[in-house]
Amino acid sequence: MSSFKHVIDQPHMRPSNRCGKFITGKMSCAVLFTTCWFAFLGCEQRGEDEAEVLARLFSGAGAEWIDMTYSYDERTIFWPTAQPFALEVVSAGTAEGGYYYAANNFCMAEHGGTHFDAPIHFAEGQHTSDQVPIDRLVGPAVVVDVSAAAEGGPDYRVDVGDLEAWEAEHGRIPDGAILLLHTGWGRRWPDPERYLGTAETGPYAIPELHFPGLHQDAARWLVENRRIDALGIDTPSIDYGQSTLFESHRVLYAENIPAFENVAALDRLPPTGAYVIALPMKIAGGSGGPLRMVGVRPNSSGS
Ligand SMILES: [Zn+2]
Repeated sequence: MSSFKHVIDQPHMRPSNRCGKFITGKMSCAVLFTTCWFAFLGCEQRGEDEAEVLARLFSGAGAEWIDMTYSYDERTIFWPTAQPFALEVVSAGTAEGGYYYAANNFCMAEHGGTHFDAPIHFAEGQHTSDQVPIDRLVGPAVVVDVSAAAEGGPDYRVDVGDLEAWEAEHGRIPDGAILLLHTGWGRRWPDPERYLGTAETGPYAIPELHFPGLHQDAARWLVENRRIDALGIDTPSIDYGQSTLFESHRVLYAENIPAFENVAALDRLPPTGAYVIALPMKIAGGSGGPLRMVGVRPNSSGS
């Protein structure tokens, strides 16, 4: 897609380095972002200036916004050993002053539902939730659909061949891409038996986990040969359910590449041409946290 190519060919779109240092600075980051949307919405042809581009984008005209986030409630799926989401109603009714007032407390593990993995989750000394630069969390989406293959077995791992096959059809995974693995597991949410492989909780449930993930060789191939900003998947973990050493986590996080897990609505994004904004709760020192993730695709892109 030409506008997509235009964006990724901009030299200033390339991440400065593997550590994601923010050397572009605040001002040029804003320019970069606007330039992205400028090309994305085909505004050069329309003769629109940057302010008009942003106004049109955020008004929803010319683009579709897609919620890629599951709600948190009592059915939200967590790792079998993690503390699930709990909501405590503090107030839901008329206060003494005669006005309506609602407020709650909530409690949960960092890693559950649609959530963020900061690199420190599996790599000591790497970014915590609050340290991950924003430019790692926004960018062009590359969606690799392996749902047909994963349907054949829940232990499916996305391998180098899958990535090469995607590139043969769509071109090289661009620098700065947010790589999204679409396994089709979203169709099983929120049934834990079908999504995790077990509805049991506690340590004895761990060996029963079965769901697709990224093969460790593909993780190594990505860090050695491509420069993605982040990885996302529509399963509970970027390593498959039967993993015991979490190699893909360790390989990516050692390079400060964060991940998004339990991502929703991947079937609504085209292979290229969409963008993603994935903003986690900014927990100081956090290893991850709840994530609100949205995709935006031009109305003209097909899928
Ligand atoms: Zn996680």
